[in-house]
Amino acid sequence: MDKSNQKASLLIVDDEPYNVKILNEFLRPNYNIRVATNGERALQIAFSDTPPDLILLDVMMPGIDGYEVCKRLKADQNTQDIPVIFITAKADEKDELKGFEAGAVDYVTKPFRPVVVEARVRTHVDLKIKSELLKNHSLRDGLTGIANRRRFDEYILMAWNYSIRESSPLSLILIDIDHFKLYNDNYGHQDGDSCLIKVAKCLESLVQRKIDILARYGGEEFGCILPKTNLDGAMLVAKKFHNEILSLQIPHIHSPTNSCITISQGVCTVNPSNSFLPEELIKIADQALYKAKKSGRNRFCS
Ligand code: GH3
Ligand code: MG
Ligand code: MG
Repeated sequence: MDKSNQKASLLIVDDEPYNVKILNEFLRPNYNIRVATNGERALQIAFSDTPPDLILLDVMMPGIDGYEVCKRLKADQNTQDIPVIFITAKADEKDELKGFEAGAVDYVTKPFRPVVVEARVRTHVDLKIKSELLKNHSLRDGLTGIANRRRFDEYILMAWNYSIRESSPLSLILIDIDHFKLYNDNYGHQDGDSCLIKVAKCLESLVQRKIDILARYGGEEFGCILPKTNLDGAMLVAKKFHNEILSLQIPHIHSPTNSCITISQGVCTVNPSNSFLPEELIKIADQALYKAKKSGRNRFCS
């Protein structure tokens, strides 16, 4: 959804200019509208960086027809959640069934009544926004607002498969706050929570590539997944984490390591293959973290 003016965006796909004009006229006040006059162009827009929230799709078009467009959208993870409503002159039951089988959420026949189209669009846009919110919510950590463990597990598997396909390295950094139990014991659990939030926000602000994620892995432990990143690259990120957390200067006077909050990190890079599992990567990063702890904390090891 467009965050700037909170209007949802629609893609109208129809080769008949008159239909486009009518739909555009009555939907424009409430939606941001884009138009495609053939299936190829519709797919291009749907797969772009700014996909629409909903697609109104004509069935009969020259080139790829509406059913085929819909099937392709539903076959791809990036576009399968975009609701598709067919608007078509093909009114018999068989055609309607074909539309639903292709993955449409609704079916409107021509000549259409604007109020009906508008009501159906509204329903499906609302549903889409709600399910997105819910999904987002289920993948975020309640305290820090960053990705949660579920998201971490899901993402590392995706990154693993991606790295196999692309023959590219995959790096993981496990980050653990030093002597955090002592911090809680001395400053109280509420300050402990604020400290966790500060550390999470700081680390997240340093994770800048779109394909990297930072997640809360456990209590005071974070995991940073870096696809397409070799060990040198991952060590640079770990160094940035190390320096920036130190520069937050969060007092921890009871820590035997430092008078401020510090972190220990385990860094690991692998070239994933089908002969081992993402768990191996986590295990090795965890061993590196253990090494960092054992050798004095406030450092990163690979
Ligand atoms: P080390 O340097 O070896 O990592 O020591 P540590 O004390 O950080 O590690 P330990 O695993 O013994 O303790 C982790 C502490 O993190 C224990 C728990 O009280 C605290 N913790 C975990 N989750 C939360 C949370 O959500 N909020 C707060 N305030 N504390 C938490
Ligand atoms: Mg700790
Ligand atoms: Mg820990």
